[in-house]
Amino acid sequence: MSAKLIKGTEIREEILEEITKEVAEIKEKHGKVPGLVTILVGENPASVSYVTLKIKTAHRVGFHEIQDNQPPDISEEDLLAIIDKYNKDDDIHGILVQLPLPKHIDDKKVLNAIDPDKDVDGFHPVNVGRLMIGGSEVKFPPCTPAGIQEMIVRAGVETEGAEVVVVGRSNIVGKPIAVMMMQKGRGANSTVTVVHTRTKNLDEHCKRADILIVAAGVPGLVKPEWIKPGACVIDVGVNRVGEKISEKTGKKVAILRGDVDFEAAKEIAGYITPVPGGVGPMTITMLMKNTLNSLKFKLGLM
Ligand code: NAP
Repeated sequence: MSAKLIKGTEIREEILEEITKEVAEIKEKHGKVPGLVTILVGENPASVSYVTLKIKTAHRVGFHEIQDNQPPDISEEDLLAIIDKYNKDDDIHGILVQLPLPKHIDDKKVLNAIDPDKDVDGFHPVNVGRLMIGGSEVKFPPCTPAGIQEMIVRAGVETEGAEVVVVGRSNIVGKPIAVMMMQKGRGANSTVTVVHTRTKNLDEHCKRADILIVAAGVPGLVKPEWIKPGACVIDVGVNRVGEKISEKTGKKVAILRGDVDFEAAKEIAGYITPVPGGVGPMTITMLMKNTLNSLKFKLGLM
């Protein structure tokens, strides 16, 4: 294998250690810790496991954390009242509503009711606008793109003047990472191309990339011959392609594949992220970072 592996699992540990240390210092100097609330409506098993992991991580880094579970038949009005309560709570700096919500609730209305200064997911239109403006306007970059940029920076990959090609234009990955990489600043200053299903000659665009970021949700979409030798390949795709019995637990688990043909690509790329264990662990990590920063903004430390 010629490519250097960029492991999200290792970078996660580094960042969580840094956050833990900073939380302890702020607590000592200012008597405050970041507060995160996760609001879960119903008992969708995937949502329960995401929320549990978020709360467990928040606890690990020393946050004040609340898991607010609500019944599936809660009214939209009652859910909005709960958000209003946390918007006004001085001990809460980050509010998360786990999606999907039941059909009788308008998720856009709910997400837009979160105070933009506590919107640590970075999905509120105000924060999307701040991201577009860039620089010191940015408060909460969305967590998966923020994780991608952090991995590129920590791996020591040069972004200044680099040709970045982003495969995918979703609101949660493709669009925001494209905006972030083209901004002035650390880990950015790149020349960005975004490609999607209507793009002609997808392979030709990918071949130009010094940094290729793939978020399409199509297993093995990017072929090894589309990769420029020495390029940095960030595979965001998480695709379930089957099931196997876990050696650790003896239970059935999903077999996950990325959007890139990893085995062949790692012989050509200079840097590559694995799936699983690449971008995946970075999302919750950056959620912790955003929640810490929310308190720092409040205390005038940022
Ligand atoms: P999405 O909303 O489905 O968007 C996929 C994008 O890829 C769309 O813009 C689509 O183009 C484009 N695309 C799909 N097939 C393509 C093809 N054959 N050629 C070129 N472009 C193609 O997906 P998403 O939410 O961004 O997620 C993408 C992948 O990342 C998924 O596998 C998801 O599970 C994974 N993901 C991982 C994390 C994490 O690790 N933490 C977080 C988020 C997402 P059109 O717009 O033209 O349809």
